Amino acid sequence: MPAKIIDGKAIAKKIREKIKTEVGSMKVKPGLAVIRVGDDPASIVYVNSKEKACLEAGFYSEKYELKEDIDESDLLKLINKLNKDKKIHGILIQLPLPAHISQHKVLEAVSPEKDVDGFNPVNFGRLLSGNKYLVPATPKGVVRLLDEIGVKIAGRNVVVIGRSNIVGKPVAVLLLERDATVTICHSKTKDLVEECKKADILISAVGKKGLVTKDIVKKDAVIIDVGITKSDGKLYGDVDFDNVKKIASWITPVPGGVGPMTIAMLLENTLFAKRKIEENK
Ligand code: NAD
Repeated sequence: MPAKIIDGKAIAKKIREKIKTEVGSMKVKPGLAVIRVGDDPASIVYVNSKEKACLEAGFYSEKYELKEDIDESDLLKLINKLNKDKKIHGILIQLPLPAHISQHKVLEAVSPEKDVDGFNPVNFGRLLSGNKYLVPATPKGVVRLLDEIGVKIAGRNVVVIGRSNIVGKPVAVLLLERDATVTICHSKTKDLVEECKKADILISAVGKKGLVTKDIVKKDAVIIDVGITKSDGKLYGDVDFDNVKKIASWITPVPGGVGPMTIAMLLENTLFAKRKIEENK
């Protein structure tokens, strides 16, 4: 039997509708500020879709589109201003940043209580130490998808391909916390094929079309494809979807799998940040 498709779009829609209903009855709307530096075409698309999702959910939204050559100090000043702004509960810096700007410095400047991307080292540390607060949106969305389809996580072999701070590392930590046995693979892994064959749940976050083929996937594995590559004007994941779906039990499509969940989790994080800021007043 071919794999069942994990419909991230439908699951994300349900979450967004629930958030919209909740926000509808709020006097003060959750406010998200999104900052983009430069004109990277993918970043423009991501930022616009985040802004659209915010407005659809009834959030207050501010978008900052800054010039590629902006001084790091000016960006830090803007973040400091937003940290103090009462209308803003979440601040998101679209990555990547231009090379002359220190990503570490910028992410550290975002107040941990408004860090809806969960990339500030305070929140990253909280996640690692088992005291999570604001959790990176894409990894959170991956775990939510697994929960939505009802797959057991505890005791299962999970293989994560990719070790970035944005996806690979945090998703591995989240699943370790759920008692999975987690292996993290990356570009220097000696035998990716052998590692992947052991996976009950395989999560690929690389950005390399066709990396995960049918012959490296265990029968009935759950496949979560985070990767996005654009080729001939079309979007592709890391997984050879048409062939892998013949042996997997569940699989996410690209587009329409993890991507929509990232946005839904960002909205959820902003709502969480607002609630916490109000509680701590
Ligand atoms: P990254 O470039 O920071 O990390 C890629 C990782 O892949 C690295 O850890 C690297 O070691 C590993 N890698 C590279 N080549 C490999 C190989 N041949 N075998 C095994 N591992 C290899 O990227 P990222 O920011 O983690 O994003 C990964 C992918 O996920 C990208 O395609 C990105 O566009 C996509 N992404 C999607 C969403 C979403 O919402 N769907 C969100 C974030 C990132």
